[in-house]
Amino acid sequence: MKKRIAILGSTGSIGTQALDVIGQYPERFEVELLTANNNVNLLAEQADKYRPAAVIIANNSRLGELKRKLEGLPVKVYGGESALAELVKSDTIDIVLSAMVGYSGLIPAISAIEAGKAIALANKEAMVIAGDLITRLAKSKNALIIPVDSEHSAIFQCIVGEKNAIEKIFLTASGGPFLGKNLEFLKKVSVKDALNHPNWDMGAKITIDSATLMNKGLEAIEAKWLFGLKPSQIEIVVHPQSIVHSLVQFEDGSVKAQLGLPDMKLPILYAFSYPERLKTQFPRFSFTDYPSLTFESPDTERFRNLQLAFEAMFAGGTVPCTMNAANEVAVEAFLYNRAGFLDIPEIVEKTMHRVSRVRHPSLDDFQQCDRESRVIAGELVNTLKGR
Ligand code: MG
Repeated sequence: MKKRIAILGSTGSIGTQALDVIGQYPERFEVELLTANNNVNLLAEQADKYRPAAVIIANNSRLGELKRKLEGLPVKVYGGESALAELVKSDTIDIVLSAMVGYSGLIPAISAIEAGKAIALANKEAMVIAGDLITRLAKSKNALIIPVDSEHSAIFQCIVGEKNAIEKIFLTASGGPFLGKNLEFLKKVSVKDALNHPNWDMGAKITIDSATLMNKGLEAIEAKWLFGLKPSQIEIVVHPQSIVHSLVQFEDGSVKAQLGLPDMKLPILYAFSYPERLKTQFPRFSFTDYPSLTFESPDTERFRNLQLAFEAMFAGGTVPCTMNAANEVAVEAFLYNRAGFLDIPEIVEKTMHRVSRVRHPSLDDFQQCDRESRVIAGELVNTLKGR
């Protein structure tokens, strides 16, 4: 039987690649629901091409426009975030790909898990903010969470079939475009420089997070929850070629790695086809094209976000939520030239110090913490203007 897939965030980088993948296996997958935040034009195009049962535009003010574009098509059209949280529960959906950006993905992911859906998780921020709550809920609802993030997919692939405990994991990091650069250089980098990632072609938020190494910090917290690890079991290794996607060390000292060319279509496809591997025409890795694969420790003094993320992971409770909110605000400020590159960790750290921690947060606590942290981070951005 075909797997029926909902794509939350279908107009983004992961969403569009997921549709490409689905389009290559029409006998295996079909699109049931597509959602976007704002991009009415692309969402309408996708709806016409893939004919999902329904589409949702989260920004309700654009609903009329979307309806006009899809007039006459057998596709139901909805608007608003509440429609999103409701429709992901639909009986006709087997897998929900959560590819929204940032905090916005949290509530839809929780709704889908509540309905017992398998989640293909690309929205790492949801796990960073509320990993404890999400993993407990998924367990109680028997909902499978399959990581789409390339590193976590690698670890997931390394432990499939293993009944043995993980001793530790190595999350690989490309190091981003500013690997080895000094603070003087980092002070002056432009948005354009930061958006120019050496190996991966991704959305703006994650590309900036890769340049600041916050992405790796978020991924460490994501890994903690996905694989039930202690912070001390997670090590970051800089691997600029992005071929070894991550590694698992078992208690006998043996290390397994998953390798491949940097292409998100593979982890996306694996999340959809798991536990099967489907035949692909993707380009194959060649050792002679990569005669040296190198590994080094990350520089947490120059890239402080990585350190801050580990601090947030140790602190637990709402601290990762605060860190994430501050980072989202700071990255947006950077993208609009309202903050410098090195202001990003500064804003994150100060916000983490100012917002008090709730030790065992409920969903309401997360929502309140996210709001409060954004206000404080926003104030910190405003104080930058005078400098
Ligand atoms: Mg990743």
